Amino acid sequence: MTAILETRALVSGYGKKRAVHGVDLALNAGEILLVLGHNGAGKTTLMSTIFGLIRPMEGQVLLEGADISGRTPAANVADGIAYVPQGHGIFKTLTVRDNLELGAFSETDAARTRERLEQVFSLFPILKERAGQVAGTFSGGQQQMLAIGMALMHGPRVLILDEPSIGLAPNLVERVMEAIKTINRDLGASILMVEQNVKLSLPVADRAMVIKTGAVVYEGAPEPLNDHVRLMTLF
Ligand code: ATP
Repeated sequence: MTAILETRALVSGYGKKRAVHGVDLALNAGEILLVLGHNGAGKTTLMSTIFGLIRPMEGQVLLEGADISGRTPAANVADGIAYVPQGHGIFKTLTVRDNLELGAFSETDAARTRERLEQVFSLFPILKERAGQVAGTFSGGQQQMLAIGMALMHGPRVLILDEPSIGLAPNLVERVMEAIKTINRDLGASILMVEQNVKLSLPVADRAMVIKTGAVVYEGAPEPLNDHVRLMTLF
């Protein structure tokens, strides 16, 4: 397997405080890798460091083997990495269509932007139906779909999702998880997804990792984590 995105002995945190303690992670090309862990385990810090929002203290981030440690988020977006932060990161006073068009800010080819807009609309038909509606009036689930749609407007090779299920009713979580599977299968994006909703995220994962106090305590097939007792010993 070729890793498209990797971290090697990555250490990161805030000021002098370390929240990620030497994490080795490898997202293989074409897969969905799920990162599980409790509140405060260091998942968001890890994703933010990979995307360039936080500078690593030690270790490396690699994209297709090239060192991208400490590179800016803008450079990472231009190179095919998209990040959907926890809490969505949409522009609530703008319409759905405006948000999606902003998502394509780095794209100079108008035809490609139109094509991606159609892909997003076919993935989430509600966004097409409500393209003219102000995004802040949307439900949490619809805002999450819009946030994912915005990220897809870059045509990413790698999609990083930080807790896409947060605050959503179970039927909407299922809908979002199905869309994530479709993005992976039909659009060919490799996906790195942080989740706390183990039950609904495990079925879409190809591999899973568990992080505890900033360190990897499990890495492998998702299925063993269906065992509640086993999972509890890891969390
Ligand atoms: P959650 O699901 O709640 O976001 P998480 O696994 O993503 O949890 P992080 O948010 O990465 O965990 O937090 C890891 C550690 O870093 C925690 O001890 C947290 O208190 C600390 N931390 C997070 N953000 C900051 C910050 N901006 N400044 C200082 N410490 C922080």
